[in-house]
Amino acid sequence: MRSYLDYLLIFIVFALSGSAYSNDNFTFEEVTQLPSLAEQLSQLDDKQRLEWLNAQLAKESTPVKKYRLQRLLALESFNLGMRKEAAEICESVIPLRDDFIYRNYCADATADGFDEFKSNMENLIYDTRQAGNNTLTARFLGNLAWQQSQEGDIAGSFASYEAALSVVPEEQGMLMNNIMFDTASNYIVHGDDAYVQRGVELLSKVRKNLQEELNKELSPGVENQVKLEIALTYFNSGIAYMLHLYDYEKALEFFNHVNSVEDSLSVNSLSFSALAAAILGRFNEAKQYIEQIDGRKDQDPVVEQYLNCYRQLAMQHWNSSQSLTSCLSLDPDTTVEVKLDLFKRLSTNPRQDVKVYGLEKLRELFIEVLEPQIRSKGSSAASNVELIRLQKESALKSLVLEKEKQLNQERSTRYTIQRNLFIAIIVIIIFFFLLVYLQLKQKRKLAEQYQQMSVRDSLTQLGNRRFLEQQIERELAFVARAVSQGKKIALGVYIFDIDHFKRINDTYGHAIGDEVLKLFGARVKSIIRETDLFVRWGGEEFVYIARLDSNERMKEIANRILMQINSQPFTVDDEQSLTVTCTIGAVQFPFFDTGNIEIWTRLISLADAALYYGKENGRNCWVVIKNEGIESLEQLEHIIHSPLEETKEQNLIDVTTSYDVKKT
Ligand code: GH3
Ligand code: MG
Ligand code: MG
Repeated sequence: MRSYLDYLLIFIVFALSGSAYSNDNFTFEEVTQLPSLAEQLSQLDDKQRLEWLNAQLAKESTPVKKYRLQRLLALESFNLGMRKEAAEICESVIPLRDDFIYRNYCADATADGFDEFKSNMENLIYDTRQAGNNTLTARFLGNLAWQQSQEGDIAGSFASYEAALSVVPEEQGMLMNNIMFDTASNYIVHGDDAYVQRGVELLSKVRKNLQEELNKELSPGVENQVKLEIALTYFNSGIAYMLHLYDYEKALEFFNHVNSVEDSLSVNSLSFSALAAAILGRFNEAKQYIEQIDGRKDQDPVVEQYLNCYRQLAMQHWNSSQSLTSCLSLDPDTTVEVKLDLFKRLSTNPRQDVKVYGLEKLRELFIEVLEPQIRSKGSSAASNVELIRLQKESALKSLVLEKEKQLNQERSTRYTIQRNLFIAIIVIIIFFFLLVYLQLKQKRKLAEQYQQMSVRDSLTQLGNRRFLEQQIERELAFVARAVSQGKKIALGVYIFDIDHFKRINDTYGHAIGDEVLKLFGARVKSIIRETDLFVRWGGEEFVYIARLDSNERMKEIANRILMQINSQPFTVDDEQSLTVTCTIGAVQFPFFDTGNIEIWTRLISLADAALYYGKENGRNCWVVIKNEGIESLEQLEHIIHSPLEETKEQNLIDVTTSYDVKKT
């Protein structure tokens, strides 16, 4: 999402960039739509053209027309080498953004040094690319490349030529050819032997294209221009063999195509040919080339000077006293390509002074031109390396950052996992202990339930025989201890058996029998103390252990229970009314000092004997054995295992029954 501030910034940038190119309220399209001035201008020579344009400008007031005149003036001035004047116009009449040609001139004219020129051109090329104008893009790239090669930025120049070739439209044959021609020259001047060879091949392609051009119907002016360009391809190929590959045969082959041309170019090729032939030992041929020049000179004095040097070097081959004055006073503006070639030749000259001069000049050239070029090539290569290194470094840095991020993430996930694991373990432990606790609790409860179940009779809810076994020893011990301390205390051991219970079962059914058992237990329980032991001994038999404060209480309690049972019939099932009776046998404790012997089973057995006695004597009664008289275990065993009638008659024991009580 863009903020308003962003839009404001974009607007400002647009306004500024627009203002750098616009000057008045007209477009470049309007400029191109003005009627052409070509006809008027073509009539005039260079100087006249400038005058005419200035005169028109003085009269003109329409902004768009003034602009058109001023840009033409700048173009003309620049083409005439009046760079300063062109720059002044460029600075006062800012080119319109779309006026790429004028911008191109101004880019060159106003540039303060190569770097600024290059940056101006790059901006311009960017805009022509944006505008989709491939022709101008290619042309400007070609310009830039040429300038780069002149400045010794050979790598940059090759790159720009490559870019130019990649965008030049196919239909722009001549432009394509120009770029190919310049590229070939670049190969020849700056390439190694293989590239020089490729340059020559490229030139032959250019030549083929130009020759095809000649088949078309062309105006005489254009035809001459094309012919000259063809000659140039031959000439440059000759130069390739002459100055770079030192193949003089081949050089002559190419130069011979140019030597007959009526142009200053032939002055050049004839001069080179003369040296080539002389080196090959063909002096007559060489002399002919020189004669063919016939005193003609190149227009450029700089060029004329070095051509003269080549001719003098040629003549030196057959005239060892030939003066080499031209060679010893070359113009400093001589191209590096030629300087390098000539100084090399001079440094191997048979004349010692020339040789020294040549070496001296080579050294100068090396220090002033070649070394900086090598260095700049080196630093350009180094800067490429630096760029790649920086890219790699930043990639590496981001990789390290990424790794670190990943590591942190892993660390934090590991931490989270560990924390979760820790929490999980804690929860599991808590659950485990809770489970164990609950299970223990459950077990304890079950154990308690089981314990209760195991000592309780499920039908009557009274304690059972096991309960009695558990409790009785403590009760006996308590009483024995109390008696030994002189307290008046005793235990009554009673055993009840319901009379003719079988009959109840048989008459009313087992369920009613159960009901009677329950009611019997409840009825006895209702009249005894809560703390007393009262259990179901088994079947329809019950045992009651009562603490007594006197012996008399034995019969009283037995009587009370019997009365309670007899008091009223048992109401079963809410309707059945049954008369239930029982027989009670009872003994008391303690008697002789029983010490550690197990006494309680014997007490029960003795009470059982009493009960049996009661059953024998009519049931629905109680029988109490006064057992205080028993003095030893043997006596007790004897009594237990003998019929009570018998031991009673032997006066071993005293027996009282409820019948005796009734009788009295
Ligand atoms: P006695 O007066 O001589 O004691 O006669 P009895 O019929 O009571 O004695 P017996 O030993 O001949 O019969 C006891 C009966 O009690 C036998 C048995 O079926 C019954 N019985 C034992 N336990 C239960 C019980 O839990 N429920 C019921 N309904 N009957 C039982
Ligand atoms: Mg019984
Ligand atoms: Mg019975």
